[in-house]
Amino acid sequence: MTTVTDFTPMLQQVLEEVRPLTLQGKVADYIPELGHVDRNKLGIALYLPDGGVFCAGDAHERFSIQSISKVFTLIMAYRRLGDALWQRVGREPSGTPFNSLIQLETDLGIPRNPFINAGALVVSDILCSQYVNAHLSILEFIRQISGVDDINFNTRVARSEAQHGYRNAAMANFIKSFGNLKAPVDDVLQTYFRQCSIEMSCAELVRAAQLLVHYGTTPDVSETLLTPSEVRRVTSIMLTCGTYDAAGDFAFRIGLPAKSGVGGGILAVVPGRMALCVWSPALDYHGNSLAGGRALELFSARSGFSVF
Ligand code: GLN
Repeated sequence: MTTVTDFTPMLQQVLEEVRPLTLQGKVADYIPELGHVDRNKLGIALYLPDGGVFCAGDAHERFSIQSISKVFTLIMAYRRLGDALWQRVGREPSGTPFNSLIQLETDLGIPRNPFINAGALVVSDILCSQYVNAHLSILEFIRQISGVDDINFNTRVARSEAQHGYRNAAMANFIKSFGNLKAPVDDVLQTYFRQCSIEMSCAELVRAAQLLVHYGTTPDVSETLLTPSEVRRVTSIMLTCGTYDAAGDFAFRIGLPAKSGVGGGILAVVPGRMALCVWSPALDYHGNSLAGGRALELFSARSGFSVF
């Protein structure tokens, strides 16, 4: 009989060590609804193929997944378009902040990668062309891969972002001027704001990431959703672009493909081995969770679950 290591004590220890960092950094308030979140929240969840889900802290409390949603929309668009996707969006790290417009002009409206806002807007546009109600299809897909039926949008957060989303609106209009958005700008923006407003817990996010851990299949869905080589491509983009202009530093310190969101979540995945999600709302200068990044660093060093 094989015994499964209980990782809970290690996760608890990591949270204890990073807790002082929750007092530093800044909770995102450029989306006013997000500014109300309690900076003391701190949770972590680990999924292992042969061990199930291990949790510590506020791992079962839902938060705004924000840009972590870009992993799921990328998977959906990749499934529909295959490699034709790369004609609409690149796969190079941008080295610029997530909401930067600067490269779009010289790149003629083709965003550098699907994880900066500009790229995610193009991906949302693709989904608007592929589905009658793209936002509902995104929600349905996330419910399906996580096996959790009551995951939902937070309409207040979506509305708050729509009311203050001047930069995303500028970006979408700019991309449209190059012909790289097909649907009406407002439809794309509404889809994007809604996908970002979806709320999930760390435990639910690692369950959704089983799809990547298991190379395109999941216990909750009978069909194969991605091929193993597509999974490697998605996770390689997470490694190089998932934490924006801090992706090099994340690879150096942590060594895990990861996607962050301004709600304070970071989802990390190693295909074949594990998924790890951490949540702490206060962000560093790049918009990545400060305590969350440090928690991933401590855990990867101690557990040896790095891709390097
Ligand atoms: N909804 C946020 C925005 O568009 C997502 C950004 C993020 O999580 N990095 O600004």
